[in-house]
Amino acid sequence: MNGPGIVVTGASGRMGRMAIRAVLDTPGARLSGAVVRPGHDWIGRDIGEVLGEARLGVTVTDDPLEAFATAQAIIDFTTPAATVAHAALAAQARAVHVIGTTGLSDADLARIGAAARHAVIVRAGNFSLGVNLLIGLTRQVAAALGEDFDVEVLEAHHGAKLDAPSGTALMLGQAAAEGRGVTLADVAAHDRTGARRRGDIGFASLRGGDIVGEHDVTFAGAGERIVLRHIATDRGIFARGAVRAAIWGQDRDPGDYDMLDVLGMGGAG
Ligand code: NAD
Repeated sequence: MNGPGIVVTGASGRMGRMAIRAVLDTPGARLSGAVVRPGHDWIGRDIGEVLGEARLGVTVTDDPLEAFATAQAIIDFTTPAATVAHAALAAQARAVHVIGTTGLSDADLARIGAAARHAVIVRAGNFSLGVNLLIGLTRQVAAALGEDFDVEVLEAHHGAKLDAPSGTALMLGQAAAEGRGVTLADVAAHDRTGARRRGDIGFASLRGGDIVGEHDVTFAGAGERIVLRHIATDRGIFARGAVRAAIWGQDRDPGDYDMLDVLGMGGAG
């Protein structure tokens, strides 16, 4: 099957394996490379074979430059340091860079933004349709209710997750802040001690077991409360969203896009 050649980085990771499966399952997409961290024992082997499947004719490498050279898109669920390095290389190769990595600092985002001047980047803290709908609903409810309702974002993930709060929780907090017409940094409450301030948007994280990802946005008023909830039970939803983004990004103008753009739901662009 022809179609964009897609490289998956972090191919041995939880999301990397899912992304490979999603590429193979998507008509019109083709796996053209698999990149792992330097020193990994999969290097030089066939990616299908190491995943316990038929040979795919794609040799695992730790050299992103070589893998990206012939690719039309990169799907990247790795670490902030790796993703920043990949952004520059993907831009050089004029390949669409689909970034799922979370926990990126402002400095990381600035370097990724520089790459987006020359290439298409689609970055999302969450590639699921449901969460992107939840973002729109959160913005709408926050705008309707105002500061009489306290906003709290609670997220739960498996114990190996590196960053907290999750990228998705931050996007939900951002949506609530936009709905209220305030700047998130001015009202975000992390690691709270003491009484709640009026207007705070609070964040809390729970870690344990094999939780794929759960997010609640609570609007707590006097005598009533609204809870908007998303529960992910299968990482495949993120992987399929990322493949959709990789295909959507072909032939777009350079820029820093998000999943709302891909879904045609009017993201920031
Ligand atoms: P993981 O630890 O299972 O996988 C990360 C992989 O990246 C590992 O295999 C690691 O070896 C690899 N890696 C590290 N440095 C590398 C390098 N320089 N080159 C190539 N590979 C390298 O983690 P995970 O659960 O798969 O999550 C990865 C990231 O994706 C996290 O930031 C997580 O929060 C994020 N995530 C995003 C979404 C979304 O929808 N946006 C969904 C789930 C997870």
